[in-house]
Order: sequence, then structure tokens, then C-alpha cells
Amino acid sequence: MKKIVTMLLTVCLLLSAVAAFASCGHEHSFKSDWSKDATHHWHACDGKDCTEVSEKAEHTWGDPVVNEAKEKVYTCSVCSHTKTEAIKTTVTADEWTAAFDLGTNWKITFTATHPVYHQTMTIMQMRDGNKFHCKETMKDTESGAEESYEDFDEIVGEQWYGYRYDREQDKFEKVTVTDPVDERLASMMADYLPEFIKDQDTYTYDEAKKAYVADEILADEDYADIKSVALYFEDGKLVALEYVIVMEETEVPYSATFTYGDASVTLPTNLIEG
Ligand SMILES: [Zn+2]
Ligand SMILES: [Zn+2]
Repeated sequence: MKKIVTMLLTVCLLLSAVAAFASCGHEHSFKSDWSKDATHHWHACDGKDCTEVSEKAEHTWGDPVVNEAKEKVYTCSVCSHTKTEAIKTTVTADEWTAAFDLGTNWKITFTATHPVYHQTMTIMQMRDGNKFHCKETMKDTESGAEESYEDFDEIVGEQWYGYRYDREQDKFEKVTVTDPVDERLASMMADYLPEFIKDQDTYTYDEAKKAYVADEILADEDYADIKSVALYFEDGKLVALEYVIVMEETEVPYSATFTYGDASVTLPTNLIEG
């Protein structure tokens, strides 16, 4: 009897050893390259028919980059796998007005290059809640000479404060702005998004450009006409606009980009005393 039990035990041990051998008849050697599918990445074992994997994890998607086809391209920071997501570039009539509501955290960058005067003007304006930052830069495209100035604004309760840069003292002067906050906000926006630009009836969606274009001249002011306006939207928000201002028979192209949610403003602390 004892002999039979020993024999059975031995057979069992052998079988389990065989089973173990079948599942990994070798020391795993994982490939350095990543294997991947739509959701995960891992290092596969080099062994023939071995299904053992190492470091299997979900992809780590970074911020998307928008490609020429107007798709968001996400790249995994670990294995470089990419996925694309379509961006909605059309806006319904119901969504049109909201698409121009920038919210309280945004960054706008305007650029215009004057082809005759060889000057590029860049205006960056940021809003981070109740804090604003504006920086204007003029660059001579021939000499490369650059000049810029910046200022800041802040709303505290019902009061608007400005931080105006004083070049001579290289400090900021904090001033009280007397305009009511609402009016001041409205005027800031008006500088960048004139009312006529928001009129949906003016535009036709251009499938190839993935933009809303207005071919007619939008404003006929004494000194300038505005034409070739194109508005770009992504997922129901205005993200870019392009237009040409005709000044004294010279066409000056303007462009602007809008980003949302990552603006951060730190107010200056080097203030002029008094
Ligand atoms: Zn293996
Ligand atoms: Zn990955």
C-alpha cells in the first residue's frame, strides 16, 4: 500500500513538473520592443509559442496634437502607439453663439504681418479667472529688431485694476480702472472679436478647409475693408480665425488662435510705490 501511495505521489509530482515545463519550458526572455493593441502595451516573450508577457499596462495618452486632417492624434508616452479621434469642425445654429463664448480661461494669440512695412505684430492675451495678461510684440522682419511691452489686469469684486508697465522704472504701476467691470470686459472682447464676425448668416462651411468662410467684404470702414474671413471650430469652440485687412490698397493677413483651459497668469509684484 505504502508503495502505491509513493508511486502515485511521484507520478503527481512528475505530472506537475511536466505541466510547469509545458507552460514555460525556458527562462522567459522579453523583447525590448513593445507589443501593443488598441488599449494596452506589453513586452512579449521571445520563446516559441510562449504567451508570457511583461509590464503589460494601459496606454498613457498625452495631450493630443491636431493633424492636417483635423483629427486629434494621441500618442502613448510609453510605447508611442497612436490613436486618432475626429474633431467636430461644424457648428449648428443652436451652438453658434456658445462657440464664441470664450469662458474664463483662455489664451488668444493674434498675428499680423504688414508686407510693405515689414513688421509683424503679435498680441497675446490671456485670461485666468479674474486675472489678465496682455503682451504685444512688434518685430521688424528685415532687421529682426523686436520691441514688446506687456501689462496685466485684475478684477477684485466690482473693481478693475490695471498693472501698467513703466519702461523708465522697469516696474508696474497699479492703477484703478473706473469703467464698470461688465463694460470693460465687453470692450476687451470687442477688440478681438468684433460683432460682425459672429454673424452666422455671413458664412458658408467649406468642407475642404473645414472652416466657415465669408467671401464678401465684412466691414467697409473709412480706412480698411475686412475680407476673406475664415472661422475654425473644434468641438463647439472657436479655435482660430483668419482674415485680410485691406489698408490703403495693401492686403494685411491676420490670424488668431484660441486655446482653452491652460492659461495661467501671475500678477507682477515689482510695483511702483505710492
Ligand atoms: Zn517565455
Ligand atoms: Zn502604450
